[in-house]
Amino acid sequence: MKESLLHKLTILAESAKYDVSCSSSGTTRSNKAGAIGNTSGWGICHSFTEDGRCVSLLKILLTNFCLFDCAYCVNRRSNDIERVAFTPRELAELTIEFYRRNYIEGLFLSSGVIKSPDHTMEKMLRVVKDLRTLYHFNGYIHMKTIPGASQELVHQAGLYADRLSVNLEIPLEQDLKLLAPEKDHQSVYKPMHYIQQGMVQNLEDRRKFRSAPRFAPAGQSTQIIVGAAKDNDKDILHLSSALYQRQSMKRVYYSGYIPVNTYDKRLPVVKDPCLKRENRLYQADWLMRFYQFNANEILDDKNPYLDLDMDPKLAWAIRHPERFPVDVNTADYATILRIPGVGVKSAKMIIMARKHGRLNLDGLKKIGVVLKRAQYFITNNELSHYTIHEATPEYVKSVLRDTPLLPSPAQQQLSFGFTE
Ligand code: SF4
Repeated sequence: MKESLLHKLTILAESAKYDVSCSSSGTTRSNKAGAIGNTSGWGICHSFTEDGRCVSLLKILLTNFCLFDCAYCVNRRSNDIERVAFTPRELAELTIEFYRRNYIEGLFLSSGVIKSPDHTMEKMLRVVKDLRTLYHFNGYIHMKTIPGASQELVHQAGLYADRLSVNLEIPLEQDLKLLAPEKDHQSVYKPMHYIQQGMVQNLEDRRKFRSAPRFAPAGQSTQIIVGAAKDNDKDILHLSSALYQRQSMKRVYYSGYIPVNTYDKRLPVVKDPCLKRENRLYQADWLMRFYQFNANEILDDKNPYLDLDMDPKLAWAIRHPERFPVDVNTADYATILRIPGVGVKSAKMIIMARKHGRLNLDGLKKIGVVLKRAQYFITNNELSHYTIHEATPEYVKSVLRDTPLLPSPAQQQLSFGFTE
């Protein structure tokens, strides 16, 4: 590889590492005659950084030049860093070369904003179009959509990329205005809407003509930065919940704020990204998507932050002792799903298994129920343990929490010393 290309690669791969809005493809496509590569529904083009974040193997920016000056971004206009740019052809060739050598399984393409959102999108589009049409690349492509991009360009991007994403970044509009003055939520919601429209239209087209080209088959995703502003977990979960109302929204990624521009007084003072908070948000997100919880149930005005010392499902159960104990032999699926220690798979198996007779503790254990947790929330004649009422919520909390109780969740979450 030419030295100049390697130099660009080093800088632009490094610059792209802060975006977590890609992890796996979410789509499946087999190899076809005359094409190179295939896409599997899981595990493609992802890797894990030392701190456990999921990143793609060729996760790269087209350029780190940027017109914008977002306070939380390493590539912001006012940072004095070396700026480089690939030509679209260079990046397409690099991708296909890496793919041929088996270094990567796909591409995650993002970019700083050059000249205008549309100008940037056109250049990115050239990369993915060349990959698909010139090099017949059939692997996975995740392409970022630049906020403010036009509908026509978003539409074209969806015809070549498997997944599109537009990053919301800062949950509350007023905070976004403060930290990224050139952006607003509208410029993010519009391309999200175009993607949604494109997918709905594509479904109809494909119903009529099976040969109609697919549009963003792996849907769209977005990223929210956690801890760069004064938003609380309740704000974030409500936002995610609204985003998941869009059928095309497959994943909301939460990225603990990484202090790359510590000189900017608008940003909180933090040493490390709040990974625990990020993890709790993923767990709460999971509850909304797979456990039939809504955002209001997980957090409310009285409890605007997730407990850092226990998972959100357990925290909810401890706040609602009146909903327990649950009789696993008679309760419906939705109720069983809410028992701490019972996952989606075990809840389904409980429903199946009890058709053949009463479930005892041994049966629950075999199904995969974590009795250490579930014991306080279920009734069973065999149980010698106390239920949450007899043991008290405080006791259950003290034995099931992950770590010794911290002073208070709110204190933990907001100990960043915001500068006003
Ligand atoms: S537009 Fe993107 S690349 Fe440019 S400064 Fe903002 S976050 Fe960074």
